[in-house]
Amino acid sequence: MMYRRSMSFALVATASLFLASSTHADGAHRPSLAIETDDGTVRAGDLVFDSWQAYFESDYFQENGSRCGTVINQNNPPAPHGGSASDCTYNFTNPSAAYDPAVGRLRIPVVVHVIRNSSGTQGNITEAMVASQIDVLNEDYLALPGTNGQNGTNAEIEFFLATEDPSGNPTNGITYSNNTTWFNDDGGYYNSLAWDTNRYLNFYTNTAGGFLGYVPDLPQGGIAGSSTDRVVCHYLSFGRNSPGFPYHLGRTATHEVGHYLGLYHTFDNGCGSNSCYTTNDRICDTPKQSSPNFGCSNDSSCGVSDDFRDYMDYTNDSCMTHFTSEQNKRMRCSMEHYRPNLHQDEPVVDGACCLSFGCLILSESVCNGNGGDFEGTGTACTPDPCPPPPDGACCLSFGCVVLSESVCDGNGGDFEGSGTACAPDPCPPLCPTVTGDISGDGSILGDDVGGYIRAKMGSPPLPGENQACADYGTGTISGDTAQFVTDLLN
Ligand SMILES: [Zn+2]
Repeated sequence: MMYRRSMSFALVATASLFLASSTHADGAHRPSLAIETDDGTVRAGDLVFDSWQAYFESDYFQENGSRCGTVINQNNPPAPHGGSASDCTYNFTNPSAAYDPAVGRLRIPVVVHVIRNSSGTQGNITEAMVASQIDVLNEDYLALPGTNGQNGTNAEIEFFLATEDPSGNPTNGITYSNNTTWFNDDGGYYNSLAWDTNRYLNFYTNTAGGFLGYVPDLPQGGIAGSSTDRVVCHYLSFGRNSPGFPYHLGRTATHEVGHYLGLYHTFDNGCGSNSCYTTNDRICDTPKQSSPNFGCSNDSSCGVSDDFRDYMDYTNDSCMTHFTSEQNKRMRCSMEHYRPNLHQDEPVVDGACCLSFGCLILSESVCNGNGGDFEGTGTACTPDPCPPPPDGACCLSFGCVVLSESVCDGNGGDFEGSGTACAPDPCPPLCPTVTGDISGDGSILGDDVGGYIRAKMGSPPLPGENQACADYGTGTISGDTAQFVTDLLN
């Protein structure tokens, strides 16, 4: 089925019920389509539903376009923040290589404000459920293999719950409030709760005005830094396997963060023209589309098949699979020019980095000094771009590298483990310590050195000589031993 979005009708029709709201003149607050009463029933206009589930399944919900309540104030755009911000204005997208995800990962600190009713009996979300939503965002924005997001396109945008609050105090990135007015998305809660919106993505969960979610505007409107800047999600459609079936897999947040980072719906502004970077959703690799799809149907509008699996349509969570490459670029452009203070650098801790020869577990400074990109935390390579190790870990003179055994052997290293970690601890010395009287009578102790010299002389190694450390074919030897012997022979 396909429904024409009729947001303007919905807002006009319900505004009279909620004119007690005092703040919507600033565009940041919106009249609610539906609210939850203390007995748990849902009131939408003069309709009463037994539950949010009944409401989500109703014609009322779909006819009012309630999957998303984002309003884009594109009739009044401010001046761009600078020349290059013109690459992703309200009215135009330039998907240049500067916004390619390969340029590097952008990491966004997140705070989630869970708002319950005054008695705390409605709207609760556990910390684990909040964490699961962050996981879903990363699965979708990084197209992580083995997850629901694996068929998407990697935007190299990562999300993490903030570890420091705006004052620098430790935090888990989650706040809880009990306020029935706020719970029903009223009362300017963001003026009390927002963390610096230049530096944090502020999520709020409540009844979201009867929508599944919304943002007040695209960042192109200059909202970053104001307390109204936010992503609002219905508490029943937040997190993985939430109660809000069929909007239960966390894709409401994926969709709303798309707006938060500058994306239109795939159907916004009608079919547009062939000038696809300046009409419709200002993206050319999304087909022209005139109206949203619900469910998971393959519909067509504007003479071409809709991309109904795009996160920026209205289909069921299980139906959505991807952003397009140009959507990723528009989001990264929006982030860099309209939310320039939002992303944080990688944490300075030990981790995994990718060098030309493989995935090396070293400190970040070592990675950077060797031209590698720091790609994760802890001791394991994060999935992309470090490939999974085909075989095991081996120890070379410069560190512990995850490579195949054959590569290790070919480089004189010992195969030491399997999986992504060096085993057991962490790499033994490459070669036995060589001792000898190099300044006296020239006598030498050390089997490997003996073998090396024999190799230089064209003789095979004697039994017991260290063959792992010396390549008898080429006559080279690595590590301290190499220097020792080189010095000796010279
Ligand atoms: Zn939307």
